[in-house]
Amino acid sequence: MKKEEKMILREDAHKIMSQYGTPTRIEEVSLEESLGRVLGEDVFSDLEMPPFDKSAMDGYAVNSNDRSEKYEIVETIPAGKFPEKAIIPGQCSKIMTGAPLPDGADRVIKVEVTEEDNGYMYLTGEDKVFNVCFRGEDIRIGDKILGKGKMMRSQEIGAAASLGYNKVKVHKQVKAGLITTGSEIIDPGEVLRPGQIYNSNGYSLSAQLINTGAEFAGRKIVSDDRSLLKDFFEKMIDSVDLTLISGGVSMGEFDFVPELLEELGVIVHFNKVAIQPGKPTLFGTKGDKIIFGLPGNPVSTFVIFEVLVKPVLMRMAGSIFSPVILKGRMQKGFKRRKVERDLFIPVNYENGIVKLIEYHGSAHFVSLSKSNGLLKIPRGVSEIPEDEIVDVRQI
Ligand code: AMP
Ligand code: MG
Repeated sequence: MKKEEKMILREDAHKIMSQYGTPTRIEEVSLEESLGRVLGEDVFSDLEMPPFDKSAMDGYAVNSNDRSEKYEIVETIPAGKFPEKAIIPGQCSKIMTGAPLPDGADRVIKVEVTEEDNGYMYLTGEDKVFNVCFRGEDIRIGDKILGKGKMMRSQEIGAAASLGYNKVKVHKQVKAGLITTGSEIIDPGEVLRPGQIYNSNGYSLSAQLINTGAEFAGRKIVSDDRSLLKDFFEKMIDSVDLTLISGGVSMGEFDFVPELLEELGVIVHFNKVAIQPGKPTLFGTKGDKIIFGLPGNPVSTFVIFEVLVKPVLMRMAGSIFSPVILKGRMQKGFKRRKVERDLFIPVNYENGIVKLIEYHGSAHFVSLSKSNGLLKIPRGVSEIPEDEIVDVRQI
């Protein structure tokens, strides 16, 4: 007989998990390689931006106190050239966008309100703005540009490049591996025989891992055979930081995962959580190694990854996970009978409206592909009325 474990609340699961998941060490990588990685240190500027007073327009650089009718053009300054001549009243320099202002000038008159004749510039209209980006107006020396723990997106990469950094210090990627258990599971591409089902978890989970910045160390289908499973678990746990196991965690006769992990010296902190779908979820540690046993049903694995695995994975990667929450209005009301778990259902969020979609339960993976959010219905809540404003977690 298997021992029936206590089901813990989602908040308690988070509390337990928050004590584990050591951040990976820091390495220096090129800016190109840093996409999706987490900064291991603050980045400061040792430059001013812009580094010189710079024209924001193609036009003529003048002094703003100079009210002359015509201006002698003393020089042409393309971007990339430093001016050679200062200007005095009655003079201007022809200047291109991005070029440094000459001494004596503090304003650029855009070309559209001027005319040029025989070496002189004449005003044909009025330009009310100065069209100058002044030295240091965006960034000063010593400004903190990017903070430790920030994920490098295209924006951060551009910011680092603009300050001259071609390398950054980031956390090493979390190495994660996947074992999908089940004698009935076969890989897509193979011919389905009676009683078999395709391995959807293995693929959705690896995509979720990669999307969260992990280094995917590979997947393996292992049938429900104690010694095979034990062998593969041991190898996987040894070789990666984070092991995800799907299936075999519940109370069935062939659900060996919890006992095998314990035999391998894994401390099992919980193996049942009040989340629907996803009750049979196991969290274990062995030293610095993290092990999750996820429910076999594909929607459950997906939801548990989003809700429980992601915060741990992000912490290991040096960051803090905070889901994107969208506020929306329920298009229709929702009712349920059993209320002892936090329920997550796939919904479609569009222009502030939350639409329920066809969803038959935890094996109905295709409904997830039609959704862009998860609606959380807290335990104890049996009904959400039409028009109620709710939080949707973006997926
Ligand atoms: P289990 O937790 O092993 O009892 O599995 C629960 C349900 O999920 C069963 O119907 C399994 O066939 C199904 N299942 C388990 N693993 C996978 C997988 N990798 N892909 C799709 N379905 C799975
Ligand atoms: Mg199974």
